[in-house]
Amino acid sequence: MVSLTEVGRSYGKGPYQVDALTEVTASVASGELVAVVGPSGSGKSTLLNLIGTLDRPTSGQVVVDGQRVDRLDDRRLSALRAHRIGFVFQQFHLSAGVQAVDDVADGLLYTGMSRRRRRDRAAAALHRVGLGSRLHHRPHELSGGERQRVAIARAVVGDPALLLADEPTGALDTHSGALVVELLRELNTYGTTVLVITHDTALAASLPRRLVMRDGRLLKDAGSGTTTTAIRPAQEHI
Ligand code: ADP
Ligand code: MG
Repeated sequence: MVSLTEVGRSYGKGPYQVDALTEVTASVASGELVAVVGPSGSGKSTLLNLIGTLDRPTSGQVVVDGQRVDRLDDRRLSALRAHRIGFVFQQFHLSAGVQAVDDVADGLLYTGMSRRRRRDRAAAALHRVGLGSRLHHRPHELSGGERQRVAIARAVVGDPALLLADEPTGALDTHSGALVVELLRELNTYGTTVLVITHDTALAASLPRRLVMRDGRLLKDAGSGTTTTAIRPAQEHI
């Protein structure tokens, strides 16, 4: 599903250059559920944005769903993103004043479906995330956990092959966070490949595989029976 080969991403030039990612090589198979962990500033979001085709690498290769992201033009890149990838962010990104069902239905605009069909699909997605009784609520009428579940419904309403979540529980209380994680697991059970950035060590430890980032590098790839350890076990943080 995802293959990264010696991927680098730098910002700025000369003395101001920041190497957000350096020589990251990893792959994620279809159907995996992977945690991306590491301290703040270690390159986790940069990595997810590259995989999600929101950004291009400055070196190396990124292949998503069989397509070379670093070679696609903008139009093909947006098509790949729209059809195959769903995103969830820490800050929900729902539109103020818009009912949940319409916000989720907007996730299908790229399909050219009628508004009615999009709304039917959106209602089904909201039922799936346990919000069947909140279809017409607006963001300010929902709790944080409910808002995140609307955001997840919007991300998956088009049935993407790949779901990318950047600290989806970061703004939530423990209980709401646990519901969101449960939902990600469930989506994964039904076949969606899921990559989730998290600061929650208990959550990360409970997932089948962890990519550990440090200073822009992939420090450790643990789980799935393909463990490669760049540090001695005694120095593990997860
Ligand atoms: P994380 O998500 O692990 O906290 P990021 O991927 O957001 O880390 O950032 C990695 C590094 O790249 C950080 O040092 C950050 O300051 C830098 N960085 C991220 N985005 C930009 C940008 N647009 N311009 C310059 N530096 C950036
Ligand atoms: Mg980040």
